[in-house]
Amino acid sequence: MFENEPNDFLLHKIMNSENYSHEYIKEMHNELEKRRIKNSSNEMLIFEFIFSEKYSKENLTNVGLELKNRGIDTSKFDDFTYIDCVVFQFPSGWESLLKEMFLKLKDNGWNAENRLHFNFSFGSINIEGLRNKSNPVLNDIVEDYISDLFKTCCHCSSTDKVEYFEDLYLCPSCMLEIINKREILEISKFGFVYYNGPIYENEIGRFDKIRWSEIKYVAFEQNLELDIIKVDLNKLTEEELSSNEETSNSFFRDNYISFSSDYHINFFELLGHIPQNILSTKIKEEINYVLKKIKKCKVCEKKAIINDKCLLCGNYSSQIEKPREIWIKRFGSKENYLQYLKDNYLNFTKNNYSHNYILENDKSFK
Ligand SMILES: [Zn+2]
Ligand SMILES: [Zn+2]
Repeated sequence: MFENEPNDFLLHKIMNSENYSHEYIKEMHNELEKRRIKNSSNEMLIFEFIFSEKYSKENLTNVGLELKNRGIDTSKFDDFTYIDCVVFQFPSGWESLLKEMFLKLKDNGWNAENRLHFNFSFGSINIEGLRNKSNPVLNDIVEDYISDLFKTCCHCSSTDKVEYFEDLYLCPSCMLEIINKREILEISKFGFVYYNGPIYENEIGRFDKIRWSEIKYVAFEQNLELDIIKVDLNKLTEEELSSNEETSNSFFRDNYISFSSDYHINFFELLGHIPQNILSTKIKEEINYVLKKIKKCKVCEKKAIINDKCLLCGNYSSQIEKPREIWIKRFGSKENYLQYLKDNYLNFTKNNYSHNYILENDKSFK
């Protein structure tokens, strides 16, 4: 019925559902679901089959049929299939450690009928379902392995200087791989280089060189509450932008470049290099105002205070200059309080690879 209609087309019709009957919409959903299953990897389908409670009954039937078509015998699924599916949901660098953990659990009497509840989010790992009074060993095994996972890079399995970084546990080189992509490079009066990330699956990102002459319109936004500044560099003029009807991801990728002060390295360096002739009078004033206002911080000694807050150490200039009564009382003097903040910061930087990298490399704060 829909053979020749591409996914985007069906999705568009579903979004404009008022034009179609309920039955017809349902048929389109089914068609999309069939295509999704056809295009899914074996691993994904086995996962859906094992964790069928997360999906609809219909899904289980369709997935079962597709697995059969691919010659995968679901009656042979066992504890190891379950283990593979659990491990599949964790970062790949933890695969062998988790498999080892499950083998130990199996040796101690666990089997896959004892389903576990687990999640990995915001840097914490929870694996529940083993607090069985008759067998306290199982939960201890899990706790031990969780503490080992925190010391293991979840990308490459290295155990060298692993640190918690933005909800992940990473070794310095894997962290660097992420941080490098946030760096705006080769900033000059001619242009800059930045990392243009992938937007479709199976695509890889690339570092793109941009000439200022390609930029037609600059948008600027300052969130005073969060101390975040954003700048959008557009390859379209303001008029072209407002009349644009194209909404595909690739169109946005090719025409908009967005940078944010809380994410990109060398953000202020870039801001200072935007040629004045591509800025509207209002935005020119706003950017110049921000750049002029950046102050040196007495705690981290970098030029990083925007408004009142230091973007690097997080301290507030107003509180450094005029500490609250309670701090003066506690530390004896304003100078002692400043020393306390400095010591605190030094401690924080000691084992913080990503922060130190930004300190050393972000030219904005020099
Ligand atoms: Zn690593
Ligand atoms: Zn600071």
